[in-house]
Amino acid sequence: MKSRLAAGRRVAWLGVSFLCCATLTACGAASIPTSEAASPAANPATNEAPPASATGGFDGQRAFQYVADLVAIGPRSAGTDGSHRAQQYIIGKLKSFGCPVDEEDFTSPTPIGTVTMKNIVAKVPGTKPDIVMFATHYDTKRMDNFVGANDGGSSTGLMLELASLVCKRKNALTVWITFFDGEEAFNPDWKDPDNTYGSRELAARMALSGDLPRLKAMILADMIGGQDLRLPRETDSTAWLTDLVWSTAQRLGYRSVFANDSVEIDDDHDAFLRRKVAATDIIDLVNPQRENFWHTLSDTLDKVKPANLAMVGHVLITVLPELEQRFAGK
Ligand SMILES: [Zn+2]
Repeated sequence: MKSRLAAGRRVAWLGVSFLCCATLTACGAASIPTSEAASPAANPATNEAPPASATGGFDGQRAFQYVADLVAIGPRSAGTDGSHRAQQYIIGKLKSFGCPVDEEDFTSPTPIGTVTMKNIVAKVPGTKPDIVMFATHYDTKRMDNFVGANDGGSSTGLMLELASLVCKRKNALTVWITFFDGEEAFNPDWKDPDNTYGSRELAARMALSGDLPRLKAMILADMIGGQDLRLPRETDSTAWLTDLVWSTAQRLGYRSVFANDSVEIDDDHDAFLRRKVAATDIIDLVNPQRENFWHTLSDTLDKVKPANLAMVGHVLITVLPELEQRFAGK
């Protein structure tokens, strides 16, 4: 993914903290106020996840174990042996949860030649055919020894734990939990079309198959485990869906993390936005409060906090019935 701030080109902080950031960036660290009290359910100040019973049944510690397992596999850049091992791991976990799993193979021309990739989609039937999608990418940036514990890893662990709950649940809507391949650019820099291969493929396939009109909401997550987690709203995302996710998070007590300022980020939700699907992106890419380990060899397991996985998981498992209320009248 690319932020207009992180990329150093198109800076687009918007919203309530704009003046604050614009004023204080030059002064260094304390640029963003975080005055809200943290939730007792998942306290961002601690590393440990609370018991699952405190976060809607979502087990942050188990999600963290999935991240650890992925990191132990090593780099998983699209088309590599590590990627194939990561695919087998994700598919094996989903099947062990009883999820119906679609493996969607495709090939794409890339700057390093034609690469075979695989999207993995848990398609959980519901009472209604309308679809809600939760999604992440699982591939890592093509860099020697880069394991992407937070970048790709944290949200993959999150989505696996979410799948374990949703696949057992009686759902009013059909739920797809999607693991995209090839989000990362093969070249060092993010330049279209060298990025988001998997999401562009799935959106195109859904348009061709006729599934796209059934897709009512697409919620993307990435980089949600890091220290000092901070999640501004993404400006290109669909307003009502962003409002639903952020207001749910704030109601659960996570206002200090799910912030009200905004930043523009190009990511896997864009392929769906372009096709008029409501989509939003939960991502901590631009974070002046933290050492920037993004796309460095320091993106290792010690950077991922189980408490943060629990918090975001709590939000997603709480948003699902809200979406059912909206689209299935349940
Ligand atoms: Zn990345």
